[in-house]
Amino acid sequence: MSERKLYSPRVIKEIIDEYGFAFSKSLGQNFLIDKNIIDKICDGAEIKESDQIIEVGPGIGTLTQELCKRARKVVAIEIDKNLYPILNDNLSSYDNFHLVQGDVLKIDLNTLISDYFDNDGEIKVVANLPYYITTPIIMKLLEEKIRVNKIVVMVQKEVALRMRAKPGTKDYGALSIAVQYYSKPQIIVNVPKNVFMPRPNVDSAVIMLNVYEKPIVKVEDEKFLFKIIKAAFGKRRKTLVNALNSSQLGIAKEDIISILNECNIDVKARAEDLSLDEFAKITNSILSK
Ligand code: SAM
Repeated sequence: MSERKLYSPRVIKEIIDEYGFAFSKSLGQNFLIDKNIIDKICDGAEIKESDQIIEVGPGIGTLTQELCKRARKVVAIEIDKNLYPILNDNLSSYDNFHLVQGDVLKIDLNTLISDYFDNDGEIKVVANLPYYITTPIIMKLLEEKIRVNKIVVMVQKEVALRMRAKPGTKDYGALSIAVQYYSKPQIIVNVPKNVFMPRPNVDSAVIMLNVYEKPIVKVEDEKFLFKIIKAAFGKRRKTLVNALNSSQLGIAKEDIISILNECNIDVKARAEDLSLDEFAKITNSILSK
């Protein structure tokens, strides 16, 4: 029997009837119905035969099918029990497909990688993410320092713009700096609402994060860098001096002013004016006092 075209709305309706499945809005279920976008995601990820892939939220297996065709191994993490029989049936002809049942935010990804993958070839995360947890998933993938070379994911367009934003722009914030500390982001394609079933309320984009082997700047204490960034953007309308002074870090104004002078940064600067490099300099300077 030839493979079912899972991106066809007619086939999705048949599956809904066969299995009595219902879309869950709270699990961010918007399934892809456009083969062209599926190919763009896989082409963007430059999937090779030697690649080992983690997919978050396979749904009924639409993107998964294409990943299984192109890669050596695909491990897909899905939370919705109602999808397990559907996935197992739809992907039964691929012996390189492995379903992991559970919540991606609770799964230990380092253990998953050592359980399923070997040391040959690259590991890539490729997914159409559930939008209600986009940022926690991205931050988990980056902060837990798992052995991943590339992350290629569909996200809300607004979040993609924030991830790749530069200093001095309205989209620039703590997420931009965190993502750019660990990786080089690049938007692959903007995606309209009509390639999903059901249609989401927001526009989307596929973003690629090329993960650095080591973070791009050197800081003595990574956690402290992120505390400074969080405090600075927590009060983004204030100058950095006032934001850091009135935050829980409670750094004295005169100390921040002398650190900014030392780092050649304008004492009137706000968080949104500062680059990752400047945040790193400020962090190292505070730590050295
Ligand atoms: N990959 C499919 C596609 O493109 O058609 C489905 C993508 S849909 C936007 C997001 C998927 O993530 C759904 O299948 C949903 O059940 C799953 N999901 C939601 N929360 C999850 C979580 N915490 N852990 C794992 N999967 C989750």
